[in-house]
Amino acid sequence: MQHSARFVSLFFTGMLAVVSSTCLAEPETQQIPPIESRISEEKINDALSSAYKKYKNLKEGANANYIPALDKVDSSIFGIVLVTVDGKVYTAGDIKSEVSIQSISKVFTMAKVTEEKGIAALPKKVGVDATGQVFNSINAIEQHQGHEMNPLVNAGAITTTSMVSGKSYNEIWNKLLGYYSDFAGRELTVLEDIYKSEAATNQRNQAIAHLMYAYGHIDGDPLQATDIYTRQCSVGVNAKDLGTMAATLANAGTNPITGKVLVKPEDMPEILAVMATAGLYDDAGKWLYRTGLPAKSGVGGGIIAVSPGKFGIAAISPLLDEAGNSVRAQKAIADISAALGGNPYEATPYGK
Ligand code: GLN
Repeated sequence: MQHSARFVSLFFTGMLAVVSSTCLAEPETQQIPPIESRISEEKINDALSSAYKKYKNLKEGANANYIPALDKVDSSIFGIVLVTVDGKVYTAGDIKSEVSIQSISKVFTMAKVTEEKGIAALPKKVGVDATGQVFNSINAIEQHQGHEMNPLVNAGAITTTSMVSGKSYNEIWNKLLGYYSDFAGRELTVLEDIYKSEAATNQRNQAIAHLMYAYGHIDGDPLQATDIYTRQCSVGVNAKDLGTMAATLANAGTNPITGKVLVKPEDMPEILAVMATAGLYDDAGKWLYRTGLPAKSGVGGGIIAVSPGKFGIAAISPLLDEAGNSVRAQKAIADISAALGGNPYEATPYGK
C-alpha cells in the first residue's frame, strides 16, 4: 500500500518534470541551488567561530560618550550573526543583548523614503555623495548649502526622516518602527533610557536640522524631524535582528526568513551604493578598500554589511574607533567575509 502510494507520487512528480521541461521555457533557471552548496555550512560556522575567538578579548576602542547613556552600555557585549539569502542563521557569541541601532537606522529610513517617493527623490533633496567629513559635520552642510550630502550622515538622515509621509508625529513614527521591525522579523521597541539621554543632549542635531531647513531641504518642522530621528536611533536591536536586517538587503529587499517584500529589487542597488560610499562615515573608503562590502555602522556598536545575493552579516561590540565605528565588529566582519568570498568586486578571469 505504502509502496504503491509512493509510486503514484513519484509517477506524478515524474510527469510534472516532463510537463514542466516541455512546456516551460527554462526549467533549469528555476533550480536555484541552496546557498550551502555555494558556501558550505561548515565553512560559515568555522569563519564565525574563529573570528569570535580571535577578537573576543580585544579591548581596543571606547564606548561613545557624547550621548551619556551610551557610555554606560556594557562594553564586553560581542556577538556576530550571518544570515544567508535562503534564511539560514549562523551565530557566534552574544546574540541576545540589545544595543541602540543608532545610525544603522538611517539605511532603513532611506529605504522607506525611496519606496514612498521613488528612486529620484533622495538624490534631488539630499544628495548621494560621500562628504568625507565626520557624520555630524556642520562644515559639510555649509560647503554646498546642504546639497551634495547623503542619507547616511546626520544632515541628510534628518532630512530623509522629514520626508517620511504621515499626518502626525505618531503616524510617521509608527510607520518607521513597523518598517524596521519587518526587516528584523520581530517587533522592535525603543530603548527609552537611550532616547531620553540623546533627546536631552542633541542640540547639535537640532542645529543641523535648522540649517537644513534654512537651506530649503527640510519642508516641515525641523524639531519634529530631529525628534523622530532621535527616536529611530534609539531602537533596540540584538545581533540577530541586525543580521536579519542585513540579509534582507542582501536578498534584494525581501526578508529571507519571513518572505516579506520591503524594498523593490530594482531599488536595492542604489541603496547599497550609498552604503558603500558613506556607510562608515569618513572611513567608508578604507572599509570598502578592505572588504568591498556595502555596510553601515552605528555609535551603539553595531555594524551591518551586505554581500549581495549571498548573505547579510552583523556584529555588535560597543568599543569604537576614532571615526565612530566598532573596532571588533569591523575586524570580525572583514575576516568572515574574506573567508567566505563575500567581496562583490572579486571575480575570476573568464574560463579559469
Ligand atoms: N544618534 C546619533 C547621532 O545623531 C547617531 C550617530 C551614529 O550612530 N553615528 O549623533
